[in-house]
Amino acid sequence: MVPRIVEVRKNILKKNDALAAELRERFRRAGVFVVSLVSSPGAGKTAFLEVTLRHLRERWRVGALVGDLATDNDARRLVRSGADVQQITTGTVCHLDADMVGRALEKWDLDAYDLLFIENVGNLVCPASYDLGENLRVVLMSVTEGEDKPLKYPTIFNTADLAVITKADLADAVEFRRDDAYANVRSVHPGIRVVETSTRWADGLAPWFRQLEQWLATEVRTPTAVRSTSRATLP
Ligand code: MG
Ligand code: ZN
Repeated sequence: MVPRIVEVRKNILKKNDALAAELRERFRRAGVFVVSLVSSPGAGKTAFLEVTLRHLRERWRVGALVGDLATDNDARRLVRSGADVQQITTGTVCHLDADMVGRALEKWDLDAYDLLFIENVGNLVCPASYDLGENLRVVLMSVTEGEDKPLKYPTIFNTADLAVITKADLADAVEFRRDDAYANVRSVHPGIRVVETSTRWADGLAPWFRQLEQWLATEVRTPTAVRSTSRATLP
């Protein structure tokens, strides 16, 4: 049985890769820079995205897609930022795929955006295997989750372009071992950049904004290298 299941999964991922490649081309033509956010549930993705949208809206035309299993709470929260936001309710599916993103964007005029964020369903496992056509994948982990998340979920950390540590304001309270966390992230993805953030501090997202603006300066106006779509790693 196992080989057949693996075969089916392979085909699903192959189809996803093809759709993701089409999306990536669509994004490139529209000149929209796409960032996906992945984390476990409760790591603070939505708070992070809300502050991010608010900040970027001053200078960029931004939109966001938000994946969630059942509720639209996150989308309603993000609308407060003033950015265009659309909910993707996945039902029982614990990740977004390229087809869901493509369908959600059917009615969007991508030319009207500089930046699009995609908040994935809270899950560190299968989002690793589904390319969404994004330019950058950001993985978030909060200081309250423990330092060994990267060791437990190496694939998502390995396929991410940036690791963001969230809720840094709680680091002392939970005796967060910063050096261990960094070492763990880099043991599964050597050289990856890591930034620490807090949505509770004034300018608590500054390190992230600096990193993002650096990327925008170098990448948005020039064609981005098409990232490998074969990131599929079967369990
Ligand atoms: Mg959320
Ligand atoms: Zn899933």
